Amino acid sequence: MPNLTPTELERYRRQIMLPGFGEVAQRQLKASTVLVTGVGGLGGTAALYLAVAGVGQLILVRGGELRLDDMNRQILMSHDWLGKPRVFKAKSTLAAINPDVQIDAVFDYVTSENVDELVQRADVALDCAHNFEERNRLNEACVRWGKPMVEAAMNDMEAYLTTISPGRTPCLSCLFPEKPDWDRRGFGVLGAVSGTLACLTALEAIKLITGFGEPLFSQLLTMDLSRSEFAKRRPYHDPNCPVCGERSHTSPPAQLPNHAIANPDHFLARNYHL
Ligand SMILES: [Zn+2]
Repeated sequence: MPNLTPTELERYRRQIMLPGFGEVAQRQLKASTVLVTGVGGLGGTAALYLAVAGVGQLILVRGGELRLDDMNRQILMSHDWLGKPRVFKAKSTLAAINPDVQIDAVFDYVTSENVDELVQRADVALDCAHNFEERNRLNEACVRWGKPMVEAAMNDMEAYLTTISPGRTPCLSCLFPEKPDWDRRGFGVLGAVSGTLACLTALEAIKLITGFGEPLFSQLLTMDLSRSEFAKRRPYHDPNCPVCGERSHTSPPAQLPNHAIANPDHFLARNYHL
């Protein structure tokens, strides 16, 4: 794992001092690559908190140009960027905040052509796309390559979050076998709602990478933010799931960031509730 520079030790001092975090967790973050798909109110804000936390490399994937009605929640953007590709502005904002983070901005959506290469390069993927097409593509690739995926979505004032570890937890297809035909672009949203979910999403990635805390493995956190109601549910792990069903019986344990698992038994015992 890479060492921390004096600047990094100071920049991250307040999180390094957290009990159970320490310099090892910080070095694990520095050694990690996180893929963020859908860099909008949700993915962009999650990327912000990963950047300030010191994740070494971010791969940001988002097609399309910035619109005025994005500006109530896409906090990496600025008014003068309207009409230009969001993902490049996201990269420049994050680089200005933390120049130590390497950022690869991919001006594209998640496609069947690019998804395998993107997932293979990442230790953890964040699923923040606005439609199920991209979400399913990412889920399938994460199962194929054994990469953990944080699944975050919202609708109006409701949000949900779970962390998928292929072969160990239900996958997105287990959760939504009927593949709803919805496009997340059209619904109403407050920036504080997408931002709340984004912070929790970033936190899941940090937990996965470092073993600090307990990720939402096989747990679906549902949030009704209009009433500030949070609940945890246990989603069904379909043994016949067309995406993860066979793997769940035959595959080796999911591939988690190698450097994060200095003591796999410790990590698994603490974090998998299966
Ligand atoms: Zn499944």
